[in-house]
Amino acid sequence: MTPPEVEPPAASPPAASPPAAASRRRSTVAVAAGRPAHRPGAPVNQGIEMTSTYVLGGEQEYLRGQGSASWRAFEETLGELEGGRAVAFGSGMAAIAAVLEGLPVGSTVIAGQALYSGTSALLDEQLALGRISLRRAELDDTTAAVAVIRADPRPALVWLETPANPLVTVADVAALAAAAHEVGARVVVDNTWNTPLVLRPLEHGADVVVHSVTKYLAGHSDLLMGAVVCRADAVHAELEQRRRLTGGIPGALETYLALRGIRTLAVRMERAQANAGVLAERLAEHPAVARVRYPGLSDDPGHAVAARQQDGFGAMLSFDVHGGAAVADRICAAVELITPATSLGGVESLIERRGRYPIDAANGTPDNLIRFSVGIEHVEDLWGDLSQALAAA
Ligand SMILES: *Cc1c(COP(=O)(O)O)cnc(C)c1O
Repeated sequence: MTPPEVEPPAASPPAASPPAAASRRRSTVAVAAGRPAHRPGAPVNQGIEMTSTYVLGGEQEYLRGQGSASWRAFEETLGELEGGRAVAFGSGMAAIAAVLEGLPVGSTVIAGQALYSGTSALLDEQLALGRISLRRAELDDTTAAVAVIRADPRPALVWLETPANPLVTVADVAALAAAAHEVGARVVVDNTWNTPLVLRPLEHGADVVVHSVTKYLAGHSDLLMGAVVCRADAVHAELEQRRRLTGGIPGALETYLALRGIRTLAVRMERAQANAGVLAERLAEHPAVARVRYPGLSDDPGHAVAARQQDGFGAMLSFDVHGGAAVADRICAAVELITPATSLGGVESLIERRGRYPIDAANGTPDNLIRFSVGIEHVEDLWGDLSQALAAA
């Protein structure tokens, strides 16, 4: 007799009543939020609404003005995941610019020394135009960062990126938000790398969360999009107004694909994060590697804070190799499965030597540092490729 192909199901525990929407876990919200109401014959997915204008007489008049049903499905889902209200933008940088443009001229901004290159360049430009003054701080050193926040002139905004690009340093969001609020500053967290499945900054006191939706949320390296999430109605209205006025709107297809990506966010993050944990430990043992930067390693400087404030450690890591930039470049050229490319957060693994960007070098990135966006491939295939590239270099 042939054995059954599938094991019979184990006796199931008594059925619990379906969880009320408010108490659902984040992995359920990612799947269930932002869908049309259950009605016989209703579509299960919100469709792609391709129209610039609407028949007069309703609430909806023009796409840039009131948005579309596609935008709302995405915004509802991301808002519920972060615990706030989301406003979608055409890219991560459009979302970041929308937040910075709201600052009165002359405001002081505090940002990390390690910072995503686009944000860093935009802040430098705003500084050069005389619109803001800027103080950079080592945000992973909580004591030092609090001192910078308390110094005069009082900051209007504290910009936290955690983990920071590309050093993968961790900021203590609750401690820094408390210090910022003492001096009346607004706190923004760029949550692109962690995603709301790993960290929910609004729960730790942040006022605003920004995302490059391009990365983990959309998850397939096939579009650019951004979003801002906040709790306060006034801030939400301000951001919608800025999108209306400056026009950094998302496309309908992008919004649809980004929401489709969010549906599998939990399983993608689980797998990518598990892969990152294994690879970080193996890299740390490898003779060609001088240092691994990943908060999931128990001896990483960011480990304690990350373990306290997060559900997991994400799937971004960096490692410094012996032999400098030349060896790092050879490793990036020698990989065959992993793709040498910028960006991150897709299902496929990407690596890059970040010091090749002058702005990252100026922000303190060692020239032998390789940033690794760990994907969802089989971990042994990833390790096989990395090992052969490390050996070849
Ligand atoms: C990519 C990225 C951005 C910019 O997003 P775009 O969608 O490329 O405009 C901002 N912050 C972080 C942390 C990023 O990784």
